[in-house]
Amino acid sequence: MQVTFLETGLDNRHKRRVLWLLVLIAFALALWRTENWNRETALANLQESSRQELRRYVLHLQGQLEKYEFLPGVLASNKPLVYLLQHPGDQERIVALNNYLETVNKLTGTSDTYLMDANGLTIASSNWATERPFVGRNFSYRPYFQQAMKGQLGRYFALGTTSNKRGYYFAYPVWWDNRILGAVVVKIDMAPIEESWKDTQHELLVSDPDGVVFITTNKGWRYKTLNPLAPEVLERIRKSRRYDNETLETLPITRIEARGENAQIVRINEGVGHEYLVQEESMSHAGWRVHILTRLDQVNRHVLNALVFAALFFLAFVLLVMFWMQRRHRFQEKAKFERKAKETLELRVREQTRDITEANIRLTQEIEQHRRTESELQRTQSELIQAAKLAVIGQLSTGISHELNQPLSAIRSYADNSLALHRRGRGEELEWNLAQISELTERMAQISSQLKLFARKAAVKKSPVSVTAVVEDSLRLLSSRLKKVRINWEPPKNSLYVLANMVQLEQVLVNLFSNALHAVDSSQDPLIAIEVKESSDAQSIHLAIRDNGEGIPDNLLERIFDPFFTTKEKGQGLGLGLSISMRIIDAMDGKIEARNHPEGGALFVLKLPTAHTSEEV
Ligand code: ADP
Repeated sequence: MQVTFLETGLDNRHKRRVLWLLVLIAFALALWRTENWNRETALANLQESSRQELRRYVLHLQGQLEKYEFLPGVLASNKPLVYLLQHPGDQERIVALNNYLETVNKLTGTSDTYLMDANGLTIASSNWATERPFVGRNFSYRPYFQQAMKGQLGRYFALGTTSNKRGYYFAYPVWWDNRILGAVVVKIDMAPIEESWKDTQHELLVSDPDGVVFITTNKGWRYKTLNPLAPEVLERIRKSRRYDNETLETLPITRIEARGENAQIVRINEGVGHEYLVQEESMSHAGWRVHILTRLDQVNRHVLNALVFAALFFLAFVLLVMFWMQRRHRFQEKAKFERKAKETLELRVREQTRDITEANIRLTQEIEQHRRTESELQRTQSELIQAAKLAVIGQLSTGISHELNQPLSAIRSYADNSLALHRRGRGEELEWNLAQISELTERMAQISSQLKLFARKAAVKKSPVSVTAVVEDSLRLLSSRLKKVRINWEPPKNSLYVLANMVQLEQVLVNLFSNALHAVDSSQDPLIAIEVKESSDAQSIHLAIRDNGEGIPDNLLERIFDPFFTTKEKGQGLGLGLSISMRIIDAMDGKIEARNHPEGGALFVLKLPTAHTSEEV
């Protein structure tokens, strides 16, 4: 079981790892696609816009050049120029031509305008009045001159050896009689064109056929080459003095990606180094290539933004999925928990039901058992009662027969005596004997009357009875037996009355006193103490009779009021005294209580209702 659990745990962990790996792969793919797509789109847009820009710049440059292209041709047809070439020493004409060329130069806005003879010597020039005039200098080494001397329009770009200005040269032959006398040259300063490109957002550069950059919006790139030049090429350039003494270093360009014809992505590692989208267009007449370089920062920024957005979107998506999964998991867990709880509950209910059923069966069995036991008990009880009844009857009959037998046998002997006395004629003695018989029958009548008390509750006549009188009468009745006993009796100062039947109350007291007398029989200093007092609410009178006998054993205290309960030897007591006393006191609405006195001996207390002297029931 545990192995399965562990295996499941490992399985889950493995699954989770694979899931995370898949998420990571998906994340990488998403980023890669985003980068690709955004980069492509941004590059395509950039390529299109900068291509149009390039077109504009090329047209502008072409326009600038074409503006002056015709000028040397026009000047070449000018008569004074021809004349001067025919008569080179004419100083007057040279001055006039210098002035003329200066004026033309000013009007057309060209850098320099000058006239060369067939040997390449400058004979008149617009800058005749400047510090470094061209007049007298020989530029026969310049290709534009050589082209013109061949009868063509000479075009050339070079750094002016005298002026140190970058110039574009147009040279046109001066014809006379199918002969070329010399050439008219117009030099255009390229600096203003470069200057006008300065505010561009792009970098622009113009390179010559050898790849030397000579016009550029980035000054650092000027006279640098796009590719490393072979030594012979460098030597050729140096000889042509095109770039004077410039060193022509190679730009540190790394080609990264070709983007179709005439476009590529490069990195120029100059200083910080930047990536550029480069597009180029050639200018056929001049033999130049115009390049437009657009920094990729914007594209990179755009791609970065897109990446950040995609990453955030992906992250949000993943979080959402995770949240959803967690929620689902929680729901599943909850459902599982509830299912389990339900199952547990059902199981517990089943178990409890089973327990209850079992308990029920047990209970039914127990009830059955109890019922059986009860009926057995009842049977035993009724048997016991029966036995007890028989015992009581036995006890009763023994007691009664004992009590009655004594006077009966006495009567018999008195009767026999009387008969004998009658025969002898002893009248006096006979009389006494008969009186004894009568007395004995009286005693027997009393015994039977006492028994009758159990049969029915006799309606007794109650009247106010003086407690002092009833106590003293009772004591007097027993006076012969009380001789050896100390009686502690102090009648109350105010006479107290109880509502009772005088004779019956006397009977109760006699019984209590004779029991006390019997109890103190074996005492050293026999004592019977009698106390009377009124209750605190003045509703009852308490009469206490205490002796200094051995007292009543605790286990018998409850039984002494039972009929026929006696501890006395046979013939000494019937066990009816206290039970009769209790019935008598009950009938008087009183109470009789028995307990042992703390100092020893028994204490019987009679509580009887106080009588108001006028009362009689
Ligand atoms: P009897 O006197 O015939 O035994 P009673 O009903 O008067 O019947 O008394 C029942 C029993 O109560 C007596 O047998 C005796 O054991 C006990 N008893 C009654 N009075 C006292 C007493 N003052 N001291 C000790 N025992 C007593």
